[in-house]
Amino acid sequence: MTAAMQREDRSVESLRGARRVAVIGAGGLGNPVAVALAEAGVALRLVDDDRVELSNLPRQVLFTTADLGRPKLEAARDALVQRFGAEVECVTGRLDATNRDALIGEVDLAIDATDDPAARFLVNDWGLAKGRPVVIGGVHRFLGMVFAHAGHGPCFRCLFEEEGPEVETCAAGGVLGPMAGWVGHLMAERALALLNGDRDTGYLTTLDGLRRRARKVRLPDGCDHAPVSSPRKPMAAIHIKIPASLRKFVANLDTVDVESEDVRGALDALEARHPGVKSKLCDDSGNVRRFINIYANSEDIRFLDNLETRLVDGAELQIVPAIAGGWY
Ligand SMILES: [Zn+2]
Repeated sequence: MTAAMQREDRSVESLRGARRVAVIGAGGLGNPVAVALAEAGVALRLVDDDRVELSNLPRQVLFTTADLGRPKLEAARDALVQRFGAEVECVTGRLDATNRDALIGEVDLAIDATDDPAARFLVNDWGLAKGRPVVIGGVHRFLGMVFAHAGHGPCFRCLFEEEGPEVETCAAGGVLGPMAGWVGHLMAERALALLNGDRDTGYLTTLDGLRRRARKVRLPDGCDHAPVSSPRKPMAAIHIKIPASLRKFVANLDTVDVESEDVRGALDALEARHPGVKSKLCDDSGNVRRFINIYANSEDIRFLDNLETRLVDGAELQIVPAIAGGWY
């Protein structure tokens, strides 16, 4: 028994009924993936919109000649329920940007078994958006690949920037039957490991059917493909140092912390916190009064971009009245 088989074996009890996995595509890769996961007791959500054809039968082991012309979803569900007592939910559809979340649903993990380049990116992005693990597989003639992420990068986009138009699909390029089984079982093994808490991701596994060789290619750390949860950039935290002569206008504080991206915004935020204080710093047209100097991280803002000076997180804004100042 291999380590992977032992892990699958152990996972049978711990996963039974507790975990739900979306398998996108019920074809050449979806078949072995669904079989291995059903054996492990994982509840399945199958997504597909295809019908069983004669050419599918050699490698799509869930189907028989009796299923020809039936929707793959129905035929796969019947076989999985009958053979493994699996819990199977069927969702008819083809994944695209508009239906991604609805089709994948509320699952613990999603698997792209479509061999469709566009679907790989959709499943990858779903995982990043939800912080949930995904497994992506592909097979072309004698070559296969499996990639997984644990809800964060390195992700599939770190590997391939975008889908290229030249990518030949499985149906167009032809597939060596056993390759789909090899890739599919490795995909299921990765999925079970991730469901069991394995977080060793960030590498691509390539399978070479001619040389019967598997290789791991590790990606560099880091990924900037995660969607930004808030459309607005988080503001920088700014510490405004208040001179002694001005503290009576800010409840006797020597520092007021605000959030802003530039000096003008910081002064506005100070005014919002302590109404009236800005008029001591700026004239009626909003320009800094002549007897006031403002320093951003010790630099006079007049020699930077004045009120438009950009501030980074943690910046210190110092307000320094000239000796002959006018408000006190
Ligand atoms: Zn990435």
